[in-house]
Amino acid sequence: MRKLTLISICTLYFFISCEQQKEKDSSGITAVQEESTKPDTYYQYSIWWAFVNKVFDGDLTVGELKTKGNVGLGSFDFLDGEMVMLDGIPYRIRENGEISEGKDDEEIVYANAAFFEEDAQFVINHSVNFETFRSEINKALPSTNFFYAFKIHGVFKTLKLGGLNKQSKPFVDGLDVLIPNRPVFEGENITGTMIGFFCPEFIGNINVAGYHFHFIADDKKIGGHVMEFESEGSLIVLLDKMKDYHFALPDNEDFENVRLNKEFQYKKN
Ligand SMILES: [Zn+2]
Repeated sequence: MRKLTLISICTLYFFISCEQQKEKDSSGITAVQEESTKPDTYYQYSIWWAFVNKVFDGDLTVGELKTKGNVGLGSFDFLDGEMVMLDGIPYRIRENGEISEGKDDEEIVYANAAFFEEDAQFVINHSVNFETFRSEINKALPSTNFFYAFKIHGVFKTLKLGGLNKQSKPFVDGLDVLIPNRPVFEGENITGTMIGFFCPEFIGNINVAGYHFHFIADDKKIGGHVMEFESEGSLIVLLDKMKDYHFALPDNEDFENVRLNKEFQYKKN
């Protein structure tokens, strides 16, 4: 969708519709956003239910992922690192916290991606933690029946990020066991970007229902799955509303034979 209907304005939000954004652009205050010819589609590789049930051997390459979007999040093959894609570059955050750029022939086991087209932006001009942040975004969304991608930039007074422990075959534990025992990276006074997605409840076990955010610092020194944070000053929230959804399944033995019996979802608000 190229244009959102303006929803509610409260004192917390400075909400700019697409049309207003263009007016502001023409004044030279904000850079004009190019009309994109890329599809405005939420792309997903593998299904969350398979990922939860130990399908940790994927066959999507970083090179292919880059053709599906310029923002994204997910995990590398064998859980050898969390993935966050910003400005078309998929970064790998390994279990020891080391960050590198994914190479085109490296493989990914689960991913969400989109070519980000800003439909609206607003500012949260006071400090929030992850829970209050989610509830404020809930109020700002035009509808929770669509899909959204987010790019959020700001300063984080505290930050708690999750990594992944690399697995090897045969895989023993699913995400229900691995996530509560994941490596945790903590930072203070970090400036960076949260890339995230929202899926409506009706997505069920196909993907994460609700919000899912990954983070990468501007200096690329810390990143991972967002667990908790406290922001400092203002957070600038850009959102892209999407109504087209495309998922691709892994084409391998692990997926052919997986028993989809365990369920796991992140905390919802
Ligand atoms: Zn994650």
